[in-house]
Amino acid sequence: MKIKINAPAKINLYLDVLWRLDDGFHNIQSIMQTVSLSDQITITAERSSDTKIHVTCTNPDIPQDERNIAWKAADLYLRTFCNEPMSVDVYIEKNIPVCAGLAGGSTDAAAVLIGLNSLLDERAGMIDLINCAAKLGSDVPFCLVKGTKITQKRGENMHSVPPMPDCLILICSSQESVSTAWAYGELDRIHNDFSDRRQMRDGIQSMITGLKEQSLTGVTDNMYNIFEEAVLPLCPKAAKNRELLLEYGAVNAMMSGSGSAVFGIFTDRACAEAAKARLEGPDRKVFLCRPQ
Ligand code: ATP
Repeated sequence: MKIKINAPAKINLYLDVLWRLDDGFHNIQSIMQTVSLSDQITITAERSSDTKIHVTCTNPDIPQDERNIAWKAADLYLRTFCNEPMSVDVYIEKNIPVCAGLAGGSTDAAAVLIGLNSLLDERAGMIDLINCAAKLGSDVPFCLVKGTKITQKRGENMHSVPPMPDCLILICSSQESVSTAWAYGELDRIHNDFSDRRQMRDGIQSMITGLKEQSLTGVTDNMYNIFEEAVLPLCPKAAKNRELLLEYGAVNAMMSGSGSAVFGIFTDRACAEAAKARLEGPDRKVFLCRPQ
């Protein structure tokens, strides 16, 4: 049994941290969007005398053993929903930049849950899969459902919002990998460990109104990412990429998640393609995509 699954990257159109939850995690408030840049995941599953999980990835920098989140997803799925021993093979064609704030690992994990569930006769319902996803990482539940969602708390509280109006999204990534844990540490330092509750900004409500009215300007005028203040001063390439996207005609540009990838929103294809051509270089990967 074999299946190939498209695993899309995400960008954060809005990302704020409000305060610390009782479990020590940050209470985040975000509007997330999947895009057409994606990994391709091929999964094979066969009955076997004992359970075996094998992961291979086209990017040699990513671990291909039990440290790979796709391996963890297969293991969790089999332990939770499958009594019989299975041999599972996961092949990851990696296109999404790593440690870039684009949920590259989370989306692979979500694809494995979806793929195995499909190969094994949909034995888990969507709620069961979302519960499983939440155990693997904060962004994995969103990567299961995809589209445009408001996420809150640790990321497991999701609400649908109308889809982002169609546009062109140029994602730019230089060799400045950012670990999410490090970025949170920097943010904690700036915000005194979030010991005082921060008020919700007006921007999120304005962005939701923009989405309801299908106004791209309503989205681009309200883009916000609290991580920019912590990460961009220490990632000069990302800061420069953001500046260049704006200079080359993006309606707005911002870092995604904890970085260091940045994205620019364009309305004109010729302008976006010209910006892509100018930005591409040995130290910079550039992807032209759309909301998906
Ligand atoms: P997020 O936006 O969810 O914070 P990210 O884009 O910043 O994620 P990832 O690319 O998901 O970060 O990878 C973070 C770490 O996870 C890296 O150290 C990487 O080696 C490890 N990793 C494990 N499995 C994978 C995978 N399948 N794809 C990418 N990275 C993986």
